[in-house]
Amino acid sequence: MKTMTCKQLGGACDLEFHANSFTEIAEMSQKHGSEMFQKSDENHLKAMNEMRNLMQNPDDMKNWFENKKIEFENLPDD
Ligand SMILES: [Zn+2]
Repeated sequence: MKTMTCKQLGGACDLEFHANSFTEIAEMSQKHGSEMFQKSDENHLKAMNEMRNLMQNPDDMKNWFENKKIEFENLPDD
């Protein structure tokens, strides 16, 4: 298992996610993000807006995702 925080995954807090694959951890952070969105958490809303801007350019989004995946792969196992 590897650990990444909400912040590391484009979010806004230090909540840790643990997963065996990047796809899995990305899903966990997305789920957490939508929960925070429902609670109208200001910091997460801000972070989400930035992500949304990034997503408007598919190349930027792809690069961001690839880089995060590499970051994840390079993390030591828990
Ligand atoms: Zn968070």
